Amino acid sequence: MATKAKETEAEEKLSFQADVSKLLHIVANSLYSEKDVFLRELVSNASDACDKLRYEALTKPGLVAGDAEFKVELSIDKRAKTLTIADNGIGMSRENLIEDLGTIARSGTTSFLDNLSDDDGDPVSLIGQFGVGFYSAFMVADKVTVVSRRAGEDSAWTWDSDGKGEFTVAPGEREGRGTTITLHLNKTSQDYLDPNNLGRIIKTYSDHIALPIVLKGGDKPDGETLNIASALWTRPKKDISEDQYRELYHHVGHTFDDPWLTLHARVEGKIEYTLLLFVPTQRPFDLFDPARQHRVKLYVKRVFITDECEGLVPPYLRFLRGIVDSEDLDLNISRQVLQTNPLVRKIRKDITKRLFRELEKKANKDADAYAAFWKEFGAVLKEGLYEDADVRAPLFKLVRFSTTAGEMVSLADYVGRMKEKQTAIYYVSGAEADSLAQSPHLEGYRARGIEVLLLSDAVDDFWINAVQDFDGKPFQSVTQGSADLDDIPLVDEAAKDDAAAPDGTSVDSLIALLKLSLGDTVKDVRASTRLRESPVCLVADESGMDRHLERLLMQHGRMETTMAPILEINPRHDLIKVIAELASKEGAADALADAAQLLFDQARIIEGELPADPAGFSRRLSAIMAKGLSG
Ligand code: ADP
Ligand code: MG
Repeated sequence: MATKAKETEAEEKLSFQADVSKLLHIVANSLYSEKDVFLRELVSNASDACDKLRYEALTKPGLVAGDAEFKVELSIDKRAKTLTIADNGIGMSRENLIEDLGTIARSGTTSFLDNLSDDDGDPVSLIGQFGVGFYSAFMVADKVTVVSRRAGEDSAWTWDSDGKGEFTVAPGEREGRGTTITLHLNKTSQDYLDPNNLGRIIKTYSDHIALPIVLKGGDKPDGETLNIASALWTRPKKDISEDQYRELYHHVGHTFDDPWLTLHARVEGKIEYTLLLFVPTQRPFDLFDPARQHRVKLYVKRVFITDECEGLVPPYLRFLRGIVDSEDLDLNISRQVLQTNPLVRKIRKDITKRLFRELEKKANKDADAYAAFWKEFGAVLKEGLYEDADVRAPLFKLVRFSTTAGEMVSLADYVGRMKEKQTAIYYVSGAEADSLAQSPHLEGYRARGIEVLLLSDAVDDFWINAVQDFDGKPFQSVTQGSADLDDIPLVDEAAKDDAAAPDGTSVDSLIALLKLSLGDTVKDVRASTRLRESPVCLVADESGMDRHLERLLMQHGRMETTMAPILEINPRHDLIKVIAELASKEGAADALADAAQLLFDQARIIEGELPADPAGFSRRLSAIMAKGLSG
């Protein structure tokens, strides 16, 4: 035991996690034109540290006894060429220093950094979604020294590094709790020794910070407070500039982009709270990471409580950032209890409603801006359609689709354009947006001028099966059930010419023979109304599941086998006519069996599947081609 204690007391050299080294390299090489952000990041961390301690002190007031005024202090030493940022926040223990300043704990980091090394990715905008945090210090410093003492602990620790792969941790000296970060400024960063420059940067980036940021070592002997130092969201809207909103957004969201939407309101009445919410412009890099949650901070009467209150924002709004400051919640409420607190639930409902209202306004006012939003977050918003039946109606006003008729089509647009006698909203779903529009299943719809929704987000297959209808019109897959298109006239008069189809009896006998030949692999074979140009396609049974959803569930191991599909044939197609003729001849059984199998395999390939027996497919195709080409 004794040796162990000694070991940890001594100086120790450690390596950064591989991800950190990678990030440090990227930061040094791509963000040099935005060097000022280092100060914002360090001040932001200092403010977070004070927020954390203020929360802990609610139950352990001893932690802040004798030093209850939280603040951040900047000091300049022109001779030593150092800039120091000190706070009296929660501080870091030895373990904290190693963990927090030696690794990147955020989920999805590795894949994010892999993206960054792509040649075509724009590192600055990508890193903006990530937030470089503490490591940005190495943009301006050759060496960074951190001295920190965790609140409630007796000993302090130092951490220092040149940002080149290793850092050292050793016992240190610090009077009182908190963290002091000393930057040994590099040659090109000497302008950060200029008090006016620092004042300007703080005004620009950190004016919204709720604690005083005091500059020491400038003109004023007692130090000068550089910011307004009151919580931004408590100020009247008219006194807040767009820049200030943006900087608060950067602080709470750990991002560089601009807010796409800012929603600031003071809510009074049965429940009282202030909300300041931001919709980002850019999709956060980890939006689809399963561990990802929203980044909305919960405050109670200006005291930061947590940024992990799951119940505060529904998962389908997890792109939101910002703060909610409640007047009604108890300051001493435990974080666990919060998840199920009825007040929190009320706030969530209210936030959701307000956001929907804003989004609708924006959609009506500025379609292009709304399209940009939808591209980034539409897929997430749609999760709400199956997660929460209560929000379906308002969400239906917000969802947009690609259809066979255009982009960004609302359901109201679609219904407004429905054909006379059209009773359903038609859709086709699949993984690739581009190939969807080519699907043979659409031919009969196109020939009648019927618009079809093209659904290519993974979430689409789930909500579409959870909802019943929109405006009384059921959603109907074009790859499922019978097409029921006979009542709707063809738009193209020439296409009406059905004379070219073989007579009914020969189609019927072909269908009977195909059924016999394909056996259990198909549920049924029938003549198609949905096909116009293609010879065959597969559809799901009316009572079954859409074929794309079936495939998706198989891929995720949620289903063992798929149902046998229905093979539809197009009696007007030359190939079908030839085969129908063949079927009426004696002694063509073998050729017909091959043709049946090839038709079926072809229909599978169109859906992006392999033939059931690829080798057999190749053999049959080769034989038929050899025969056909030999002329
Ligand atoms: P982030 O702020 O997004 O968590 P940073 O890289 O800025 O990422 O900081 C990493 C972590 O280091 C913080 O989460 C915090 O735990 C710790 N940290 C950084 N600066 C301080 C500070 N001044 N006081 C206490 N902890 C700090
Ligand atoms: Mg930070």
